[in-house]
Amino acid sequence: MAENAYANALQQFDTAVSYLNLKSGIVEYLRVPKRELTVNFPVEMQDGSVRIFTGYRVHHNTALGPTKGGIRYHPDVTLDEVRALAMWMTWKCAVVGLPYGGAKGGVICDPKALALRELEKMTRRYATEISVLMSPQGDIPASDVGTGEREMAWIMDTYSMHRGYSIPAVVTGKPLAIGGSFGRAEATGRGVMITALEALKRKNIPLEGARVVVQGFGKVGAPAAYLTEERGAKIIAVSDVKGGIYNASGLKTREVLQYMTAHGSLAGYREAERLTNAELLELDCDVLMPCAMENQITAANAGRVRAKIIAEGANGPLTPEADDILNDQGVFIIPDILCNAGGVTVSYFEWVQDLQSFFWGEDEINERLRQILVRSFNQVLRVGHEHQVAPRMAAQIYAIQRVAEAMMIRGIYP
Ligand code: GLU
Repeated sequence: MAENAYANALQQFDTAVSYLNLKSGIVEYLRVPKRELTVNFPVEMQDGSVRIFTGYRVHHNTALGPTKGGIRYHPDVTLDEVRALAMWMTWKCAVVGLPYGGAKGGVICDPKALALRELEKMTRRYATEISVLMSPQGDIPASDVGTGEREMAWIMDTYSMHRGYSIPAVVTGKPLAIGGSFGRAEATGRGVMITALEALKRKNIPLEGARVVVQGFGKVGAPAAYLTEERGAKIIAVSDVKGGIYNASGLKTREVLQYMTAHGSLAGYREAERLTNAELLELDCDVLMPCAMENQITAANAGRVRAKIIAEGANGPLTPEADDILNDQGVFIIPDILCNAGGVTVSYFEWVQDLQSFFWGEDEINERLRQILVRSFNQVLRVGHEHQVAPRMAAQIYAIQRVAEAMMIRGIYP
């Protein structure tokens, strides 16, 4: 990956702290991860050979509570990427007011190229390797790109086997049957929908018939698409890694999802035209939801983006240069740390339910999520107004301020 997500995260951080009057020591400490673990571990493959995998778990900051953040399986995982994602988790949790610090994990691998049993062995061994950091009180992983309920179940089981009893609160994003939460599977996409609707209101764009484009039709993009369609918007294009489909009169996204589940890709879907991911990002639309990976919109293509609102379902889909160009174009950007915070918010609900062994209904979860995101959205815009900055900078300023305040109150040990 040409762009370095960590350099981007630090650039955002440095700009945000310039608006705050923080002690330089506090700034220096917030700029670096608190602890980083690299693990190299063997897995016996199906053909009898032994392969060494490399994984990471990074804790960025613990001032507000135990660390929280997903585990990514992807061939492009690097320590710098995990550092960036861990730092963004700190700000994300702080923006929506969760009692967590930020963490992230990753394993360099292509999960699609592994046999099921190899994937399970790799996950269980990685979980064992990072169990020196992981606990319900200390660090609670969750799913991210390339991982899901199945991997979270293996992690919960592995950790529990070592302790001798079930400890569901050690990881979130689990299947319902073993202490998962209603609403978690859709939560990130639901949050993207909720914040996009708030942005439409602010821009005075009617929701009915608003044209929405979604990049990435997976765990985040698919629910974001069908939930936004259900509210009255028109989803004119969606894509997966191989490319997109476009229909100016609107896609039936639940049908598209069924097709994708059955065929493994969007290719061949009949009620639409094919287009590339690059073309999709440049479509004329009201809302663009990049829900795939980092660095999708850069200085190279930002000038051609025609969306009025960008709802960042992915972490870091815009580079800082793209951000500047789009802000100058007057695009309303809902920053990732607010826009996709629905996932970690319902993870928090899952953790609380597991700790209490008392479970809530789906309506209650969705309503609490909506309240938290709408409140945080308004708070971010208030900070933006106060400092005369765009929502991303406002969200960063607000989050950094909260974490710095906690650090100051706690004091420096010893
Ligand atoms: N991986 C997700 C994120 O980037 C969710 C993290 C969590 O639920 O802890 O926000």
